[in-house]
Amino acid sequence: MQASTRVTPLKLALTLAFCGATFGLVPAIAQQAAPAPAAQTQDAVPQPGDDFFGHVNAEWLAKTQIPADKGSWGAGSALGDATNERIVKLIDETAAKSPTGDTRRVTDFYRSFMDEAAIEAHGLKSLKPELEKIDAIKDKAALVHALAASIRADVDPLNSTNFYTENLFGIWIAQGLTDPNHYTPYILQGGLGLPDRAYYLDDNQRMHQLRTAYQAHIAAMLKLAGYSEPETRAARVYELERKLAQAHGSREDSADIQKANNTWTMRDFAAKAPGMDWRAFFRAAGLGKQNKFIVYHPSAITGSAALVNEMPLQAWKDFLAFHTVNHFGGFLPKAFVDQRFEFYGRTMNGTPQLSPRWKRGLSAVNNAVPDAAGKMYVERYFPAEAKARLQTMVSNIVDSFRKRVDALDWMAPATKKEAQEKLRTLYVGVGYPDKWTTYDGLEIKPDDAMGNALRAEQFHYKQQLAKLGKKVDPTEWCMPPHVVNAVNMPMQNALNFPAAILQPPFFDMKASDALNYGAIGAVIGHEISHSFDDQGAQFDSKGRLRDWWTKEDGEHFKQAAAKLVAQYDSYEAFPDLKLNGTLTLSENLADLAGLAAALDAYHVSLGGKATPVQDRDFFNGYAASWANKARDASLRNQVMTDGHSPAKWRTYTVRNLDAWYQAYDVKPGQKLYLAPEQRVRVW
Ligand SMILES: [Zn+2]
Repeated sequence: MQASTRVTPLKLALTLAFCGATFGLVPAIAQQAAPAPAAQTQDAVPQPGDDFFGHVNAEWLAKTQIPADKGSWGAGSALGDATNERIVKLIDETAAKSPTGDTRRVTDFYRSFMDEAAIEAHGLKSLKPELEKIDAIKDKAALVHALAASIRADVDPLNSTNFYTENLFGIWIAQGLTDPNHYTPYILQGGLGLPDRAYYLDDNQRMHQLRTAYQAHIAAMLKLAGYSEPETRAARVYELERKLAQAHGSREDSADIQKANNTWTMRDFAAKAPGMDWRAFFRAAGLGKQNKFIVYHPSAITGSAALVNEMPLQAWKDFLAFHTVNHFGGFLPKAFVDQRFEFYGRTMNGTPQLSPRWKRGLSAVNNAVPDAAGKMYVERYFPAEAKARLQTMVSNIVDSFRKRVDALDWMAPATKKEAQEKLRTLYVGVGYPDKWTTYDGLEIKPDDAMGNALRAEQFHYKQQLAKLGKKVDPTEWCMPPHVVNAVNMPMQNALNFPAAILQPPFFDMKASDALNYGAIGAVIGHEISHSFDDQGAQFDSKGRLRDWWTKEDGEHFKQAAAKLVAQYDSYEAFPDLKLNGTLTLSENLADLAGLAAALDAYHVSLGGKATPVQDRDFFNGYAASWANKARDASLRNQVMTDGHSPAKWRTYTVRNLDAWYQAYDVKPGQKLYLAPEQRVRVW
């Protein structure tokens, strides 16, 4: 293989982009004329058939270091960082012009977070009233009220696969699983300060170390907040959480929507989860008028209610105090921020350095007033031509899915019909939402970071509760436009491609279609295919959880999926830790089907077939968009808890596509080689 074939325009653009301090819209084509790097690394560059990820990204991997404030680093995070730099500059510029309304909320929120002197001077002042309420809890009735008051709509199990809250429960307001016409409250497990039940229950050295460190962290935070006997309190909090963890569903349980489809009436809670006054709880949480709930994690709801009854009041008060301080720690004086980083950054993820204040400030803005910041970004940075070109790519890729579904020999006609209906009614949001969310009534002060965070969370919760009783809006976005990401929303039968991901290395107005289809095209295909993977196939064209496949369709799909589970189960991240093919199945299926559909669409855009060289560009675009490095601790966390496979193994899915073998002349005996009958073909 010639060294020059590895140096694609996109790859050069990536390399240059990631070495520079700022990124901007680096035109990939303009970089093509840049001198190719000397071939001194040629020996070290793996053959595509042995390590395709290492082959395409050799130069990037050699030159790139993980920034000190990160657990991992890649094409997506670099783009995210560059975009964030631009947004912060935009916020600073805008602030100087005395803005009003929501723009003012963005600039004041950001300013308050950046004013460290004011934060030091403020101390715990804005959090004190919350902590005093907890101190004043006299009995279990008051406890239930306080637990309810802490509840927020802070989880989203289906769109964002966000199952985590350190409040006792998480709420999500969305259409019902079998009732697409009505918004319904979902209730999820919560209350753990470690990421997952496995951290409390798995018996290995790493987990033992983390548990000890976590208890020390609880004590340190309580001590900083002025509590007496912090170690004793920490032991109580930890023991309570360990018991909660025993009742929690596993990460795999959380990913299984069938296990989550439990509708409980208000009356059911008393019968199925005795131990607390649920009616009082829901009243205090603003959900008193609701009669139907979807109980996403029934064992945890039952277990948690029992623990409200069984565990001493003081343990619960310590639990509430710790989680209040821990949750808002980022808005408190430096000592709190440092302690949180010491545990969650350094110990948990191996991150050597806290990220700069401006980055944390922007991420707080994104949580507090996402659409207000997104609107500012789009007005400045997202051109109409980009939206139009993307929409063309989207419709080509949807078309290629349509053809793939038609061509399937194993799928029954009735199943095909519903699949086609699902494609026909798919809402694809490109760039930004049709309607912006506004924040009228949210009080943001330029000098009260902690108070702003608290008020913004309460405001967001009220906004979500206000959806109850209204008509379901399938065009509602769940992700702000200035975030580098993309999402499939199965119940809404909708996709969001925020403006920020529509930049190099994912999309470049100046790059070839081969590169764009390989990069953003594969992302688009990935998201569309979620509508038909093991998760999405459970929702029909109306977004109803309904089995619309015949038994035979399901069997064939499961067999094909089982091959992919085995393929990913066999990958070793560390000698003692393999990938979890079951946990990552949905995402691996989406990668595979998405890449195949993007390749089809690219070929159609050429009016037929591509040459092997063009296909090579396509696959290079794909692998380059996954350029990534991770620290060991961070990679271990990802393998254990993330539904996505780490970047390298996502790239390896190319080995399931025949065109990749032709493009790179991959031969039997090479590490990634699969005989044609071993290649997984689901769609
Ligand atoms: Zn996905």
